Amino acid sequence: MSDGTNRLNLHNTLTRSKEVFKPIDPQNVRMYVCGPTVYDFAHIGNARPVIVFDVLYRLLRHLYGADHVTYVRNITDVDDKINARALRDFPELPLNEAIRRVTEKTADQFHKDVAALGCLEPTFEPRATEFVLARADGKADMVSLIQTLIERGHAYEAQGEVLFDTASMPDYGQLSRRPLEEQQAGARIAVDVHKKNPQDFVLWKLSSPEEPGWDSPWGRGRPGWHIECSAMSAAYLGEVFDIHGGGLDLIFPHHENEIAQSRCAHGTHTMANYWLHNGFLQVEGQKMSKSLGNFFTIHQLLETDIFGGRKWPGEVLRLAMLMTHYREPIDFAVRKLEEAENTLRKWKRAADLATAPAAVPDEMIGALCDDLATYPAFQFLSQLAGEAAEGNAAASSLKAALAFLGFDVFSAKVDEALVERRIAGRLAFIREKNWAEADKIRDELLGHGIQLKDGKDPATGERVTTWEVKR
Ligand code: AMP
Ligand code: ZN
Repeated sequence: MSDGTNRLNLHNTLTRSKEVFKPIDPQNVRMYVCGPTVYDFAHIGNARPVIVFDVLYRLLRHLYGADHVTYVRNITDVDDKINARALRDFPELPLNEAIRRVTEKTADQFHKDVAALGCLEPTFEPRATEFVLARADGKADMVSLIQTLIERGHAYEAQGEVLFDTASMPDYGQLSRRPLEEQQAGARIAVDVHKKNPQDFVLWKLSSPEEPGWDSPWGRGRPGWHIECSAMSAAYLGEVFDIHGGGLDLIFPHHENEIAQSRCAHGTHTMANYWLHNGFLQVEGQKMSKSLGNFFTIHQLLETDIFGGRKWPGEVLRLAMLMTHYREPIDFAVRKLEEAENTLRKWKRAADLATAPAAVPDEMIGALCDDLATYPAFQFLSQLAGEAAEGNAAASSLKAALAFLGFDVFSAKVDEALVERRIAGRLAFIREKNWAEADKIRDELLGHGIQLKDGKDPATGERVTTWEVKR
């Protein structure tokens, strides 16, 4: 374990500036990242925070030691979108059973998807439904938090809802920099009559008999969206922790409201010290999202030819995502994936020359310590790839770096079946005397480092083609 003190700099949305990262307790660095709402396949935009914070998790483990980092990423398994999906997909089942089917299936798929993208499992992955009511183990739960907020004068009941009273918190709006007065002045939307202020938000709402619900002091109901993360982060990381992450769209209202709930319930000055937000993955300049319909699921990209007419390996998607700095927008394009694939191929071929184990190169760690600057980190890897030769230090360092970043350096192998299929296709073109197409295939394979050799079968006299990996 190296001493990470004062080495890592992170851009903090709270202060809009890069700051030296100082953990509350270097023996237990604590990070919470908002996880998926499990009603449908995750799209590749949803994969961005998972991959970005996986790299940060790996970096923290490197700096503070693998046993000294706690990473919590929740699963949101209570949401009206889930109810709607359950009713649609399993109309014949009781709602609770239907919901269970939807959330289990979707969570399983999510796990498969992010594993294919090379992400480590978080330390804890709590499900919201397990933190609604007071727990036998005494960990924080949503109903108790809401009770505390009411007792402390930060929440009120109105028309079957419990609402957070934003006016009770003088510095509400710090993260998104939307002071209350501004919001009130700018509010054009008709104020819900039961709300004291338009920005007051729901902590608890009553459920109809058909809707899922839990018995609470305010009747049978279900939690609002934000309270779950306040409960689950407190349950595993305590009232104040180090890093809280998610996509840019979560700054307001989700994270702003998490902060309001947690600080007011615990009487603390802050909820987390560093707030990190990734930029959007876009399609033609627009955020990829379910509601716009401009999305590709991770599963589709891995398993079908929907994007660019072919399947994409998880690690190519991973590298493509990391080639852009996490706070910048990414335009999702075939060209970008091809570029990542070519780079990864070069790196892996060079890393294949390693003969001895090596440490993760400090130059790469240094680059990543500057707010996860992947671009200079990758430039350094390309430099190592250029210098790599059988058994030299560059090859070994590169291999260690790729393993650190979550790329599978042990399967830097050629897809032999695919090569054989391309060779058969080329021989067919040759028989048709379509030299242009035949040459195209030869050159394409050469571009992938595969050299074809044409010869004759001594017995039959027929053309046979063999191949080898050219280094
Ligand atoms: P959601 O399921 O919409 O709550 O999103 C789960 C996570 O994915 C959140 O951290 C979002 O901020 C993030 N996210 C959603 N869409 C995108 C996108 N197009 N690009 C980057 N992050 C996204
Ligand atoms: Zn959250």
